[in-house]
Amino acid sequence: MAENALIIGAGISGISCAITLINKGFVGQITIIEQGASHKARLCSVDSMGICTNCSPCKTISGFGGSVHYGDTVKLSCFPSGKRLINTLGGSRSEEFQSLALSYFSDDVLKFITPSKENSLFIEKEYPISILHSKKAKGILDEWCLKLSNKPNVKVLFNCEVTNIEKQNNTFSVSYKEKREHKEIYADTVVLCMGRAGFRKMKQFAREINIVSKPPQVSIGFRFMMPNYILQEVCNIHPDFKTSLNHNGYKYKTFCFSAGDIGGRIKHANHGGFMLIDGHSITDDETPSPLSNFAILSQLRDSSGNFYDYDWIENNVILPYIELNTTHKGKPVLQSYNDFKVGKVTKLSNEHLAKFNSQIYGVGNLASLIPSKEQHIGFCNSLEELITEFCRISEIKEPLSNVLAQISVLGLELESLWDEIELSQDMETNIPSLFVTGDSTGIAQGILQASVGGIAAAYGILKDSL
Ligand SMILES: Cc1cc2nc3c(=O)[nH]c(=O)nc-3n(C[C@H](O)[C@H](O)[C@H](O)COP(=O)(O)OP(=O)(O)OC[C@H]3O[C@@H](n4cnc5c(N)ncnc54)[C@H](O)[C@@H]3O)c2cc1C
Repeated sequence: MAENALIIGAGISGISCAITLINKGFVGQITIIEQGASHKARLCSVDSMGICTNCSPCKTISGFGGSVHYGDTVKLSCFPSGKRLINTLGGSRSEEFQSLALSYFSDDVLKFITPSKENSLFIEKEYPISILHSKKAKGILDEWCLKLSNKPNVKVLFNCEVTNIEKQNNTFSVSYKEKREHKEIYADTVVLCMGRAGFRKMKQFAREINIVSKPPQVSIGFRFMMPNYILQEVCNIHPDFKTSLNHNGYKYKTFCFSAGDIGGRIKHANHGGFMLIDGHSITDDETPSPLSNFAILSQLRDSSGNFYDYDWIENNVILPYIELNTTHKGKPVLQSYNDFKVGKVTKLSNEHLAKFNSQIYGVGNLASLIPSKEQHIGFCNSLEELITEFCRISEIKEPLSNVLAQISVLGLELESLWDEIELSQDMETNIPSLFVTGDSTGIAQGILQASVGGIAAAYGILKDSL
C-alpha cells in the first residue's frame, strides 16, 4: 500500500478522495495542495455587484470546495448523468461509489426529484436530482474542512500552486509555489484533481510526463436569461432540464438550468485572461433574482465533422472573445436575443446592464464567435423550439415574439476544455500511482460525478489492502 498520498486540488473530487482514504483507514500522510484559499476566504466582488479584480487564482473556482463556491446552491444529478464515468468504473462500482458520495453530502435522506418523460417529449433521461440549499451546502463544506483538519495525518496547504511534476523511479517529485517561494514535495502516489481552474496546468502536466490522453471535444455555449415566469413551471417538472436537439447537422444540448421560485444567478469564472460564465440556482431567499437562465451548448467541429483542436479554439474563439468586450477585455458580453439572431450589437443603457447585477458586462456580437453560419442558425432554432415548449409547459399564452423579445444572451461558455485522459477502472493513468479525477479527466463533469471519481481513486490507492 502507498505510504503517502498527494492530492492536487481541494475541489470536490480531491476532498472526496481524502475523506475516503481516511474512512478506509489509510494511515500514511495525506497532503492536499490547493492554489486557492480556505472556503471562508473566497469572496467574489462580482457576486456583490462589484468589478472583477482579476483575482489569481479566481476565487469562484479555486479554494476549498473548488468549483462549489461557499454560499452557492448545489444540484446533485445522479447517474446515468455522467455516462462515460459509468463506462470507466463499471455499472455496479459506480452505483456503490455514488451511494457513498451521497452519504458525504448528507447524513439525512436526500430528497430527489426524478423528471418524467410524460411531462415533455424533450425529456430524454429520467435521473434523480437533489437540490441542496445554500445553507446546507455551506454546512457540508464546513464539516468536510473540520474533518480533514482534525486528522493528524492530513495536511492541507492553501495558496500553494503546483507548477511541475516529475517521476523518478517510484517517487513523484512535485514542485509548488507558496507566495514567491518555490518548494518541493515527494510522494509515492499523486492524485490530480485540478478542475476548471487547472485546465491549462493539466494539459501541461499531461504533455510533460506523457499521460496518455485524447484531444478535447470542446463545446461553445451561450446563456439565455429571461424573466422567471417563463421557466417557473419547467423547473417544477425538471430542475435541470437536460435535452438535446439537432439542427443543420449540429447537436445542441441544454446545460445548467438555473430557474425556479427565486430564479438563477450568473457565476463568473476567470480562466486566466478570459472569463467564462455559468449558471446557478439560488435557494438563498435573501438575494432573490427576478431572472432565470439556462445555456445551450454545441460542439465545435469543422465542416468534415472533426473536432477543432485546442489551439484552433484559442485562436479563433477565445482570442476574439477577449476583444469583444471593449471596456473590460475578456469579460462577459451581453446581447438581446433578437440582435443575437441577426448578428447586431445591442444598444443597452447602463441602467439595463445594471439589471444583470454586474459592472463588467459589455455589449458585442456574440454570434460572431460561432464558427459557421449554419451552427448559428441552429442555436436560434434550438432556442425557439425550446421556448415554444417551455411556454406550453408554463401555459404562457403570449405570442412567441413577445417572449423572445424579453430574452438576453450572455456569453461566453466553453465546456469540456480538458483532454480526455485514458484511465483504468481505478482512475489510474498509464503512469503507475498517478490518478486523475473529476473534471480533469475530461470524461464527466458534475459535483456528484467528481465525488464518485475521487472515491474510485481512493479505492485504487487502497486496492492492495481493501
Ligand atoms: C459556477 C459553477 C456552477 C456549477 N454548478 C453545478 C451544479 O449545480 N451541479 C453540478 O453537478 N455541477 C456543477 N458545476 C460543475 C462542478 O462544480 C464541477 O464539475 C466539480 O466541482 C468538479 O470537481 P473537481 O474536483 O474536478 O474540480 P473543482 O471543484 O473545480 O476543484 C479543483 C481545484 O483544484 C485547484 N487547482 C487547480 N490547479 C491547481 C494547481 N496547479 N495547484 C493547486 N491547486 C490547483 C483549484 O483551485 C480548485 O480548487 C458547476 C460549476 C461551476 C463553475
